[in-house]
Formats: sequence, C-alpha cells, structure tokens
Amino acid sequence: MIVREAAVMGFCGGVRAAIRKAEEAADMGARLSLPCYVYGDIVHSAVVMDGLAKLGIKRIDSASFPPGVVVIRTHGISDAMRSEFQERGFVIVDATCPVVLGNQEKVRSASSPVLVIGKAGHAEIVSVMGASGKTVLIENAADLSSLDPSLRYEAVVQTTLPEKRLAEIKEEAERLGLEITFISTICAASVERRKALTELCREVDEIVVVGDRRSANTSELKALAERLGKPAFLVESADDIPRNVMSCGIIGLTAGASAPDTLIESVRRRLADGR
Ligand code: SF4
Repeated sequence: MIVREAAVMGFCGGVRAAIRKAEEAADMGARLSLPCYVYGDIVHSAVVMDGLAKLGIKRIDSASFPPGVVVIRTHGISDAMRSEFQERGFVIVDATCPVVLGNQEKVRSASSPVLVIGKAGHAEIVSVMGASGKTVLIENAADLSSLDPSLRYEAVVQTTLPEKRLAEIKEEAERLGLEITFISTICAASVERRKALTELCREVDEIVVVGDRRSANTSELKALAERLGKPAFLVESADDIPRNVMSCGIIGLTAGASAPDTLIESVRRRLADGR
C-alpha cells in the first residue's frame, strides 16, 4: 500500500496559539496558587484535553467553581458567561480564535440583526449568538424564507462552514430578493485543508481523516472526500483504521485542524506498517 499525504493538515495557528496560552495559564495558576480551568473543550480533541489535564487544568462548563485562572476555548463564550467569570473574580486567559472574536464584535456593533450562518448548538455558534446584539440563526437556505425582505441584513459565517452551503444560501437570498451583505468568515485554515485534500483526492483510492468526530472542520474533510467520490474514514486513533483500508492501493492521509501531531504520527506509522 502506498500512503500519500495532504500538503496541509493538522493543527492550525489558532489551535497552536490556544494550547500555548493554556500552558501559560497553568504556570500562572501555579505562581498565584490558584486553580486553573478551561471552559469547555479548548479544541475538539481528547488527546489535547488529556494533555491539559496532566498540567492540572480542569475542564468546567460554568462559573460555579472556586475562582481561579480560566482559559476560554478557541470557539469562544457568550458575553453573559464572560461577565459571570469576571464578576466571580476569575482571571480570564482568552484563547478564542481571532476569527470568532471578529464575528462576535460584528454582532455587538451592528445596528440591525446579524444573520449567523452555521450549525445550531455548535460551541462557536453559541458564542457568536451570545455576543450582546441581535442575531438570527440560519442553518440552511430554507431558513431565509422567515426573513423580512424590506430589511437589510449582514451575515457572518461559521468558520468551518462548507463553501457549497454558503453558495446555496447566497443563491437563495438572491432568488428571494433579500439584501444581505455576506462577510465570509470561513477561516483560512479550513479553506487550505480542503484545498489540499481536493488535490490529494486526485491521486488516491481512499482517504483517512485523523481527528475528533465532534470537530466540524474534521467532519467536513470526510464529507468533502466523499463528495469527491472517495471512500473516507474518520479515525480518532490508529486503532480505528478499518482493516480493509490496509489492503487499498493508494491511501490518502489528512487531519483536522485540531488533530495533534502525535496522533497523526501514530496513524502514519500504522498505515506505513500496513497492519
Ligand atoms: S480552525 Fe479556523 S476558527 Fe478554528 S482555531 Fe483554527 S483558524 Fe481559528
């Protein structure tokens, strides 16, 4: 079996910066004799979260803990939650990705409701819709029918949204005569990994995607490979690689933006071993 790799895969700059900030927060907590926490998953990766736990960083989902240093996940938090941490005396270390912070700022500063295009319940969408301002969630083109055509709208986009979904929404907005200024905030990291995967799909039979099932950008890599006609397998560890993949002619390897190098390396080694 031959293994080919995507030219761009694995950790993006935002994820590396967030993990660095969490490590610094653990040091700060130790220096100040304060507990250190991370709000939610800093990124969707069990390996990364295990690493933070080893540094003594505890995962929390609310501010009802003894105050300490709290690291805000890359997906961000709502303004109400941030205020609660501040009021309770937590030291906040903000690891929110700058793209998400930008979308939150857009919601706060807009004079009319901002359309937030993305998946309901996803941590990033919860934090953008939790910025103080008016928002309307748009999950797909059909949701546009509830908008008032006499109003003008601005729209921000989940950083990992498939470009195809955004194109469908734009097309439907035009058909309905809606005046929407789309601020395309699909992040560069997602775009680059998809472009590299598209090129890889031209030269392989099947695709292995390394990453966490809860990660939107990782799931989208798998979905993209399938749209391009390649069987694709999302693996959270080397043990997840299906046996039949080992007998495939040329296998392509890629990884989501939250997949650590150590995890990619273990999958790479198992594929190279061929068993
Ligand atoms: S994948 Fe995109 S949004 Fe997420 S941390 Fe990386 S750059 Fe930021």
